[in-house]
Amino acid sequence: MDLGSRALGAVGDRRAVSALITDRLHRVVVLGAHCDDIAIGAGATLLQLCRANPGVRVLAVVLTGAGTVREAEERAALAACCPGAELEVRIGDLPDGALPAHWAEVRDRVRAAADTCPDADLVLTPQSADAHQDHRLLAEMTGHAFRNHLVWGYEIAKYESDLPAVNCYVEAPARIVDEKVALLQRHYPSQHGRDWFDAESFTALLRLRGVQSKYAHAEAFMITKQRVRFTGGGDD
Ligand SMILES: [Zn+2]
Repeated sequence: MDLGSRALGAVGDRRAVSALITDRLHRVVVLGAHCDDIAIGAGATLLQLCRANPGVRVLAVVLTGAGTVREAEERAALAACCPGAELEVRIGDLPDGALPAHWAEVRDRVRAAADTCPDADLVLTPQSADAHQDHRLLAEMTGHAFRNHLVWGYEIAKYESDLPAVNCYVEAPARIVDEKVALLQRHYPSQHGRDWFDAESFTALLRLRGVQSKYAHAEAFMITKQRVRFTGGGDD
């Protein structure tokens, strides 16, 4: 069964109608333009995904930051985000803020990730309407390279008012909210001077998405395309 059309199974509780989950995850690809993007956009999801799927293989590709203080921060943060996972981290040396001028290299690195993980169950990448040119290009290249895959676009709050009308919510229990926020603050000291990099902003977005999903807190994603195939009826 290819993964873009994997069958979905319903959670066996009273919320089954709104809480569809996939089968067990074996292979996940996470993509970020900059060190900290993945942890900010999908940290709570990765923490839970990895614990729910012990030994899941995670390939994390970050396009910028290699050879700087940010690389060490990112490697430690991603290791913390992926407990129990078999994690591979690739950090590139492309210039922060100028990825569109290096689009072919971005394309090649995303393609390389797809070549490494043709069987990825889930791909996490920036949401495609992100106002940051680096994020947006990465989202576009992800769509080109992972054509038969389930791709979730994560969101990052910023000065530009680009938060999307998301359509996928992952519950973040209180302990996960605390763990994500602590992880971000602990592992990215180089970002502490930024006016948006604080517990309040991270928690606020999780709470807002919780309001919209009837969870206390949630991390949210944009799914631009989802294919569904029902199996088990005797015809597959
Ligand atoms: Zn970024």
